[in-house]
Amino acid sequence: MAREFFDFDAPDDSEIRAERGKARDLRKTRWWQQKTAPGLCHYCGKKISFKEITMDHLVPLARGGRSTKDNLVPCCKDCNNLKKSMLPLEWEDYLEKAVKEK
Ligand SMILES: [Zn+2]
Repeated sequence: MAREFFDFDAPDDSEIRAERGKARDLRKTRWWQQKTAPGLCHYCGKKISFKEITMDHLVPLARGGRSTKDNLVPCCKDCNNLKKSMLPLEWEDYLEKAVKEK
């Protein structure tokens, strides 16, 4: 399909769907409960209420990231939305500032 238009080995839709499913399953595990117990955003360090916690892939699925325990972190909705709307470089810039402000 459109795969040949990517200049790197981007996963295809079915692979991304499978990884999303894995992430959903991991959300139900004790591991995720423990990971989110402190209620802190991985990126900005803000305290977040349990229902506000979102699960984020450090390396996005679209860039070949996988739903593995070391690639999944709890983060707040603000960071999640920002990350989606920013280019990778802008995001790194934001993170650097977020850490400095602490
Ligand atoms: Zn955050």
